[in-house]
Amino acid sequence: MNDLVSGGRGAAQVPAAEAGGLLTIDLGALAANWRTLRDRAGGAECAAVVKADAYGLGIEAAVPALARAGCCTFFVAHLSEAARVREVARDAVVYVLNGFLPGTAPAYAGLSLRPVLGSSEELDEWAGFCRAEGVRLPAAIHVDTGMQRLGFPVVEALTLGNDPRLGSFEPALLMSHFTSAEEPANPVNARQIEAFEAVRLALPPMRASLANSSGIHLEAGPHYDLVRPGYALYGGNPVPDRPNPMRPVIRLEARVLQLREIEAGAGVGYNGAWTARGRRRLATLSTGYADGYPRAASATDAKAGEPTGEAIVAGHRCPFAGRVSMDLIILDVTDLPEGAVNRGDPAILIGGDLTVDEVGRRAGTIGYEVLTGLGRRYARTYAGG
Ligand SMILES: *Cc1c(COP(=O)(O)O)cnc(C)c1O
Repeated sequence: MNDLVSGGRGAAQVPAAEAGGLLTIDLGALAANWRTLRDRAGGAECAAVVKADAYGLGIEAAVPALARAGCCTFFVAHLSEAARVREVARDAVVYVLNGFLPGTAPAYAGLSLRPVLGSSEELDEWAGFCRAEGVRLPAAIHVDTGMQRLGFPVVEALTLGNDPRLGSFEPALLMSHFTSAEEPANPVNARQIEAFEAVRLALPPMRASLANSSGIHLEAGPHYDLVRPGYALYGGNPVPDRPNPMRPVIRLEARVLQLREIEAGAGVGYNGAWTARGRRRLATLSTGYADGYPRAASATDAKAGEPTGEAIVAGHRCPFAGRVSMDLIILDVTDLPEGAVNRGDPAILIGGDLTVDEVGRRAGTIGYEVLTGLGRRYARTYAGG
């Protein structure tokens, strides 16, 4: 990865030589993943979901890289995130997934942002605003086909077909969201597609969008006019029971601060929750849960036999020993060859064959949470920009 560039919020604020962790973000891989998903989606437009600061990678770096690859439509969760996208993508279409908070219509209109309307109250307010301004501004309509979270319930959405409010604005996109697209055999996927199709046929013609990263990979191919990948763009596996078709985008390295030998029976870390079964060699790493590394990846005697955290040192997998601390992680490096690890050496926490998905599993969570939790203390380097 030559062509190193710095960018994004907080980047360059932490010099690499002074940081506990180095986070490298490969914008070339991000763009390549977008192209892979676009090709997979057939003729549908491929948007990009960049909520939660582009899943932790940084909106200001990720959005221009995606726009240069050809992405024209972005989805965020909050209005504040949409304003950041607008700063770096002047002409992009930007939707705000979390609906439409009271009184925010002027902010949407001022920045040419599009709300995703999910209730009759939201529809009322957007239609009323457009009538008052005398402009038919675009918005999406969200129908809830199973998540029970946001959007019009299907029965209510079916009645919108002759709702006069739809004439006051531009209904630019009909959308819904899969609950279980990463489980291709789950019958709920077909039921959601069927409900979405019924609503689509009942409403005036407009563009439609159903698929997230995993939805794009369903055999039914529910691509409609636009697909909305997030996780897969950032290297997450959209098909968990198959090899990952995406390129890894991030690499996270910590540093070895100290090495020590301990005797059999010694308790390690907070509460001595991990006990040395023999003479062990430990390496202490310069990253912890305050950096977003999940404490749930702690290795304790009580969790023996369960998956817990690992790092790659000198090309070898090494298991965590004891609890993840706020700023430190202890590794058991006993099985490394003599002299293979020294003070200051790098330890890979995410990278190589240690994927974001695996880190999530080892912490009893999902890779999405690992990505979006990536800390602010890392020295961030954007490569391939
Ligand atoms: C987060 C989100 C997406 C992207 O989902 P991924 O699984 O990350 O691809 C798409 N649509 C909606 C409504 C979302 O909330």
